[in-house]
Amino acid sequence: MDFSLSDDVLAYRSKIRSIVAETVTPDVIDRMHTTGTFDAPELNRALGTQGFLERATPGLGVGDPIELWVLFNELEKAGAPYDGLAVALMIAGVVNLLGTDEQKERILPSIISGEALVCMGYSEADYGSDVASIKTRAVKDGDEWTINGSKMWTTMAHEARWLILLTRTDVDLPKHKGLTMFILPMDTPGITVDPVHTLGTERTNATYYDNVRVGDDAVLGGVNNGWRTMTSVLAFERGVMGGSNAAIPLLRHFHDWAQEIGIFDQPITRERMARAAIDMQVASLLTQRSAWIAASGGSPGLEGSMTKVFAAEAYQRISRWTQETAGPLGLLQFHESGAAGEGFVEYDARHSPVVTIYGGTTEINRNNIAERHLGLPKSR
Ligand SMILES: Cc1cc2nc3c(=O)[nH]c(=O)nc-3n(C[C@H](O)[C@H](O)[C@H](O)COP(=O)(O)OP(=O)(O)OC[C@H]3O[C@@H](n4cnc5c(N)ncnc54)[C@H](O)[C@@H]3O)c2cc1C
Repeated sequence: MDFSLSDDVLAYRSKIRSIVAETVTPDVIDRMHTTGTFDAPELNRALGTQGFLERATPGLGVGDPIELWVLFNELEKAGAPYDGLAVALMIAGVVNLLGTDEQKERILPSIISGEALVCMGYSEADYGSDVASIKTRAVKDGDEWTINGSKMWTTMAHEARWLILLTRTDVDLPKHKGLTMFILPMDTPGITVDPVHTLGTERTNATYYDNVRVGDDAVLGGVNNGWRTMTSVLAFERGVMGGSNAAIPLLRHFHDWAQEIGIFDQPITRERMARAAIDMQVASLLTQRSAWIAASGGSPGLEGSMTKVFAAEAYQRISRWTQETAGPLGLLQFHESGAAGEGFVEYDARHSPVVTIYGGTTEINRNNIAERHLGLPKSR
């Protein structure tokens, strides 16, 4: 198998690198860590203006399918705040796959220009892994739907222009079958947003829906077909658009710090760094497969689970040993004098466990692999 990139893809990568170098400045990275909002509007717009977001949207992309991986791999290696962008492109892919022509015309231009973000409202306080049991209700009322309920972990709700919202529309059907997904503007009356700050720095939100009224044009993917719409999003969310090489900025900072304090030449440090680099290379190859499938019109539901389990556990392993190696200096945060790896050691030790939770926990992804790949019986 030849994994080398073609000349066209290398040219694409160098354009992405220039945009990243221009827009992801140290101030932008600092802002991400200070505010907890993992988004950079200046980066999104620069990529959108040059057509790179349209090109990276699954189903819309006109370039080599590997470009989807190249884009997010470059953002990830740079430590860029790209979570908002990744979610926006996932939803753009699903609108393109399941949306009506009218929805595509109304919604997609704002996303692929880099102007608008989308947030995902499906988890609720009591229903994360068991999301099919959610309670937020949408009831048809004349020509409109009325939505009432609340969501937890609606990341980017405070920045997004659009929201995809998973609701229960039929209480008499089995739980997976009575769900409908809506896509609606975040400024629709009746929506409120409360901040939730997490261990891993990233800000997320609790969101509340009080008699929110929308028309049929907000239904995404068909009434009572919400499970399919949601699994289409999840297939793009796991191990496709970043999140799988997260230890690379950490390793870069740790490497420089280890040289500076004179432990880089110790065999234990070198061995651990080599193991970490190998893990990141494996994660990168797994991501290439998932991203390629997504960008070629497929749905990497299973491959994405494999990528996410391996990559998230590797990230956590690497973060743990860098912190163990750094000792007390690994507990110091950004801007504290003497902080190991300029504070990245401390940050990644907090951030890496969170990656094993969002987008489906490691246990849920293991279940997915066990059932769909190994043919083991259902655990639930
Ligand atoms: C930072 C962050 C951002 C997020 N962003 C979003 C977002 O934008 N939109 C959104 O809708 N959601 C979002 N989520 C929610 C995320 O998808 C859920 O947290 C996740 O699915 C787990 O659900 P839970 O938190 O309710 O945990 P639970 O489902 O209560 O799980 C608790 C534990 O039980 C285990 N467990 C549960 N069921 C099983 C089972 N069947 N087999 C084996 N083990 C099981 C889990 O693996 C976990 O270890 C985010 C979460 C975080 C932390």
